[in-house]
Parts: sequence; structure tokens; C-alpha cells
Amino acid sequence: MDRRTFFNHCAWVSLAPVALSASACNPSQSTPSASPVASDSLWVHTRPKDPSPLDKSMDEWRSILSEDEFYILFEAGTEPRGSSPLLEEKRTGTYICTACRLPLFPSKTKYESGTGWPSFWAPLEEQVETKKDMKLGYPRTEYHCTRCGGHQGHVFEDGPEPTGLRYCNNGLALAFVPADAPLPELRT
Ligand SMILES: [Zn+2]
Repeated sequence: MDRRTFFNHCAWVSLAPVALSASACNPSQSTPSASPVASDSLWVHTRPKDPSPLDKSMDEWRSILSEDEFYILFEAGTEPRGSSPLLEEKRTGTYICTACRLPLFPSKTKYESGTGWPSFWAPLEEQVETKKDMKLGYPRTEYHCTRCGGHQGHVFEDGPEPTGLRYCNNGLALAFVPADAPLPELRT
């Protein structure tokens, strides 16, 4: 990040309605703060009321999901670049977790990143959690569904405004629900 971009980033942070980590303005920080935009305006569908955590065994998930879905969601796999039909999805609606069906991303934050994976500049508030991932030998920020813990992707600091973040998501870990269709019941 050059000096100008850095200060623009910090200017946005200072105006943000949520407290992004102060360390987001520390250029030595190599992993992004992945705080979502604190705004209910991003919701297309109605937010589910107090979804309880879903704790299934790996055997249960294996029997529910396809082999590829299980690999991505519960073995932190990555689908091949350019393989997701969701890359072409342009409609208004909500992207939900393939495993537990918790709404994770609104169509409002989806954008074309050119990476070959569905990309978003912010998730829905409080729907994803992050953790540090050293799998490739350098720090990355992994994120997963708060309800079932299913792995979704990684978040990077090269996204568009207003967050500057890029949530790089596996398409197989998401299902799309158009605005004119109801959200499916959360899986139990
Ligand atoms: Zn989930």
C-alpha cells in the first residue's frame, strides 16, 4: 500500500461506523482487519432471529454435503479458479452458507475481482468470523461461517471502497437466494 492509499484507507477507517481495529492503520500489519460494515442496510432478506450455533459431527456433514462441498467447508479446501457458476450471478439477493444456510453475504457487496472466485467487499454483519491461517507458510486471514464453522475463503486488503477488503469465497460454500424468493429454513 503506498502512502496515499494508506492515508485514504485510514480516512475511511476513521469515518467507519464500527471500530475497525486500530492496527488497521499500522502499515506493518500484514493481515487485514476483517470487521464487517456495521449496517443493516446491506440486508436484502430479513435477518434470521438469533440463529443458534450448529454443531454437527464431521460424519454428519459428510453425509449431507457433496464430496467437494465437504472438502471446501470442513477441510478448508479451495475450488479451482473460474469454476463457480456464481461468478456469473448478477441478481439481487443473498448468498447463504451451503452447510447451515446462514445468510453470509448480500449481493450489494459482490463485485468482479477478476480473480476467478466470487468476491465481496463486506459480509453481512456478524455472520462470518476470521482466524489467522499459516497453511501456505505466510499469514493469511481465513474466514468461516459463525454458525457452523464452515470454511468460506480468505480476506485480503486489495478490495474496493468502502472497506478496501476482498472476501475471496469458494462458490461451492455458498448458495444464492434471489430477492423475490424466501430464504430457506436454517439447517438443524
Ligand atoms: Zn454455516
